[in-house]
Amino acid sequence: MSESVVTRTDSGIAPVAPIARDHVIPLAVLAELTHRCPLQCPYCSNPLDLERAGQELTTGEWRKTLSELAQIGVLQIHFSGGEPTVRKDLAEIVKHANDAGLYTNLITSAVLLTKDKLKDLADAGLSHIQISFQGSETIVADRVAGLAKSHDKKIQVARWSRELDLPLTVNAVMHRQNLHQLSDVIQMAVDLDADRLEIANVQYYGWALKNRAALMPTLEQIEDCTRIVEDAQVRLKGTLAIDYVVPDYYAIRPKKCMGGWGRQFFNISPSGKVLPCHAAETITGLAFDSVRDHSIAWIWENSEALNRYRGTGWMPEPCRSCDHREEDYGGCRCQAFALTGDAGNTDPACALSPLHEGIFKTAEQEAAEGASQFIYRNFSGGTREEDIINRA
Ligand code: SF4
Ligand code: SF4
Repeated sequence: MSESVVTRTDSGIAPVAPIARDHVIPLAVLAELTHRCPLQCPYCSNPLDLERAGQELTTGEWRKTLSELAQIGVLQIHFSGGEPTVRKDLAEIVKHANDAGLYTNLITSAVLLTKDKLKDLADAGLSHIQISFQGSETIVADRVAGLAKSHDKKIQVARWSRELDLPLTVNAVMHRQNLHQLSDVIQMAVDLDADRLEIANVQYYGWALKNRAALMPTLEQIEDCTRIVEDAQVRLKGTLAIDYVVPDYYAIRPKKCMGGWGRQFFNISPSGKVLPCHAAETITGLAFDSVRDHSIAWIWENSEALNRYRGTGWMPEPCRSCDHREEDYGGCRCQAFALTGDAGNTDPACALSPLHEGIFKTAEQEAAEGASQFIYRNFSGGTREEDIINRA
C-alpha cells in the first residue's frame, strides 16, 4: 500500500513522492514528562527552546495518553525528560501505565529521588530504572552535570534500586572531557550490579551542537574507546550487557537514526507533541501534532511532519539511487538540518555526502584545539561556564 503526501514548506505547499507504508506502531514509546531538570548537561538532547511547566500535559492528559498507547499496541513506556521525578504525580502516572499493561522504565538523573520515593515508584509497578552518569567520579561528573554532589547521589540511588530489586541500566554519555574515565565507568556499572550499560558518544544537535568544540573527541580517543568497549563486551559477557553508540562525525556511514524517520518509534514531548525522535524539534519549520488535538493513531498515520521524511521517496541524490537507502534511510534528519540547514539533505555523516570531508575536518580541528568551557543547558538559553566561575 502507498499513499501520496503533500507537505507545507517555507515556500508553500510542495508535492512529495509517494511513500511505501512500512511504518508500524512502535513497541516502545518515550514519554518526556517535563523539560525541567536540576542538572545542566552541555550535551542535553532537549531542544534549545525548552517547554515550560505551564505547557506540560496534566496528570489526566497523561493517563488518557497512556491508555491510548496501550490500546493501539504499544508495550513499553520510557518516562524521561528533563527530569521526570520533578513531577509530583510520577507515581500515579507509573501506576496508570502499569495498570494499562505497559512495561515501565524510568530514565532519570536520580538526584531528586529519596529511598521512600523510589519505593513508592516500585510499589506503583515500575519495571526498570535507568540512571545517567556524567563520569566515574565526583570532580568530572559534577562539573559536567553543572550540579554539586550529584554523582554521589546517583551512586546512592543506584544502590537503593538494586536493594528494591529494580533492574538497573547505567547510561553514560561520553565526550572528550570524560572519555579518559571510560574503563572506570564500566567498572562502576559492574560494582553497582547493573544489568546493562549504555555508552553513548554525544550526538551533535541542540545543546550538544552549541557545545561541540568543548565535547568533540579526538579520533585517537574514539579508537581507544571502541577497543575498551569491545574488550569489556567479551570480558563481561553474562555479567553486564554493554550497548555502544559511536559518534557520527568519525563514521563512514550514517546511523539508521531511530530505525528511519517515523517508521518504528515516536516520543511525546511535555506538551503532548508526537515527535519522530527526541531531537526533532531542533528542525525549524516542521509543525508536530499534539495528543491534545488528535488521537495518537490519527497522528501516527496523518502527521505532515512524520510523513515528510518517511520511507525513501523524499530522498535527494546520492541517497535516491544508493543501495543502502533502505538500510540507513539517509541517516539523521536532525543532523542533516544542523549541519546543512536543510533536513532533506543526505546526513553529512555519510562519506558519500559532498559535505562529509568538511565535517570530518571540523571535528578533528575542534578536538585538536581543545576548548574546555561549557555552555550549560537551562531555561535562560544557556549559561557560560566562565560566567559561573567569575560570579563565584
Ligand atoms: S541530559 Fe542532563 S540536563 Fe538534559 S534532561 Fe538529562 S540530566 Fe537533565
Ligand atoms: S548515500 Fe544516503 S542511503 Fe547511501 S549510504 Fe549515504 S546516507 Fe545512506
